[in-house]
Amino acid sequence: MQSSKAPRRWLPRMTRRRFFTTAGAAAVATTGLSRFATAGDLVRVDESDPTAKALNYVHDAKTVDAAKRASDRYCYNCALFQGETDDEWAACGIFPGKAVAGQGWCSAWAPNPAE
Ligand code: SF4
Repeated sequence: MQSSKAPRRWLPRMTRRRFFTTAGAAAVATTGLSRFATAGDLVRVDESDPTAKALNYVHDAKTVDAAKRASDRYCYNCALFQGETDDEWAACGIFPGKAVAGQGWCSAWAPNPAE
């Protein structure tokens, strides 16, 4: 019978410093891959999509009548836009699994508390 104090050979021998260095590098790599996957692999929202139509979504906010949209409101500065302000396309909380145009807009626009 094996003692409960037998060495665990399935674990690699690793110093604490090396463990944290490896874990940190893995976290950075995973974050980078995840951002790449969400930005590049999403299907762009179709303006004729029922949800898009219901919310008056358009790829080019400047085409919206001024009575409906304040001139400084774009997807890129909306709280639900999940990209950077200079991203052409990014995910949006309203359209799961799809990308909206940074220069787009819809009637669900919400102020970004970070700005
Ligand atoms: Fe654009 Fe915001 Fe509407 Fe999403 S919720 S489509 S980011 S304006």
